Amino acid sequence: MTSIHIIGGGLAGSEAAWQIAQSGLDVVLHEMRPLRKTDAHQTDGLAELVCSNSFRSDDSEQNAVGLIHHELRQLGSLIMAAADANQVPAGSALAVDREGFSAAVTKALEDHPRISIDRQEIAGLPPEDWDKVIIATGPLTSPALSAAVLEKSGEDALAFFDAIAPIVHFDSVDLSKAWFQSRYDKVGPGGTGKDYLNCPMDRDQYEAFIDALLAGDTADFKEWEGTPYFDGCLPIEVMAARGRETLRHGPMKPMGLTNAHNPDVKAYAVVQLRQDNALGTLYNMVGFQTKLKYGAQADIFRMIPGLEDAQFARLGGLHRNTFLNSPKVLDGSLRLKADPRLRFAGQITGCEGYVESASVGCLAGLFQVLESRRQEIVPPPETTAMGALLGHITGGHISRDDGAGKPSSFQPMNVNFGLFPPVEAPNKDEDGKRLKGKDKARAKKLAMTRRAKDDFAIWQASLGFKKQAAE
Ligand code: FAD
Repeated sequence: MTSIHIIGGGLAGSEAAWQIAQSGLDVVLHEMRPLRKTDAHQTDGLAELVCSNSFRSDDSEQNAVGLIHHELRQLGSLIMAAADANQVPAGSALAVDREGFSAAVTKALEDHPRISIDRQEIAGLPPEDWDKVIIATGPLTSPALSAAVLEKSGEDALAFFDAIAPIVHFDSVDLSKAWFQSRYDKVGPGGTGKDYLNCPMDRDQYEAFIDALLAGDTADFKEWEGTPYFDGCLPIEVMAARGRETLRHGPMKPMGLTNAHNPDVKAYAVVQLRQDNALGTLYNMVGFQTKLKYGAQADIFRMIPGLEDAQFARLGGLHRNTFLNSPKVLDGSLRLKADPRLRFAGQITGCEGYVESASVGCLAGLFQVLESRRQEIVPPPETTAMGALLGHITGGHISRDDGAGKPSSFQPMNVNFGLFPPVEAPNKDEDGKRLKGKDKARAKKLAMTRRAKDDFAIWQASLGFKKQAAE
């Protein structure tokens, strides 16, 4: 049987390659780095994390992304195995040592007897004699391939902005002002309840910080005017411009944190930093993605108490991401309608985030295996996290009217419970007391995740795949 070609060795392409190879089929994985770089990647490692080192919540009972972690683990995901093996403390989130994580994925793929890695850019549509291809080139797909795909699909480019947060050297943080604590002292997997570094601000410091952000010089993006931001990843200066209190109710909220150096005085706002590598020498600024110019970033972030002498291992930046109008151009198994030998995976399909991209890579890999084995392709039910996400991408997305008579456009999305069909949840607790507020919401999420796990297990069993355990 001929090899399956995967273009792009990021989160999605790496997972797809693993799933296919573990099923006994041969894969060629084409990755253009280091010969050709993107604006955000910095290494030649496969599955490089370009910004945050967090895979977000690992709670599979109350959180939709935690549920995707569970589903990926059930399928023997390489991305999850590498993440679990390279975990760093991060409260209830799953965060990783980014270098260790990428090195583990790269080694597993390089060592696999059914995978060969070809370091070159595929600068246009793949050759005609590649009859099975997965394109997983991500939000920063090289321009030549991007143009060829768009021409083939008959669509214009869709795009949005995504931003990167700065990383600080731990030994440059002033620990006489900053303190270790997780919000509400929450202890997550492998955590201690003291997993974040916190920098407090009083009201005057916060107001001065907002003034500086609003006056700060931002990078010029004239040629991309009109491109929207992804709402889950707004630059902090854009949030500040939406209202002076926005940051205090967002990434700088002080709730659940007590200043260890001054327990009697409640901080007005808090900047949190999360461990970024296993050694604990680097910390990233949580939620501080920005398009401020480099000079302005250093000046403004050194106004934060505890970061006056901060040394930055990396400053923030903004990138334009491209994605397909997937509900229109892809079929239910992620193939391009205009050329079904091409299947798509990862963020280019219109999902958003590391975990979501890996899960769409996982699905694309499994669909490719089923197709190669001439088995029917049955997608996961929409009651599961992967099924709900796939529904958003391939057409479960409901086209609403924007009020101006035009249907609203397809936009990338993180997985969330809003993508799942409604569920019947108990409205009383074990003692027969009526559930209200947060308790009611918790019961509903639990009912959703329990249904998802049951339905996922049935779907997985129906595929006839054994769990493809990652070593
Ligand atoms: P990628 O991981 O980007 O992998 C695509 C790969 O394809 C790359 O290795 C690239 O070099 C290669 N490639 C591209 N074109 C070609 C070609 N023609 N030939 C061969 N190889 C090619 N997600 C989060 O969860 N948290 C964040 O904090 C976050 N911040 C982000 C910040 C920025 C600036 C950007 C751009 C994205 C961010 N994302 C974040 C989204 C995240 O990058 C993606 O969700 C995820 O990496 C996408 O996985 P992917 O496999 O689809 O693409």
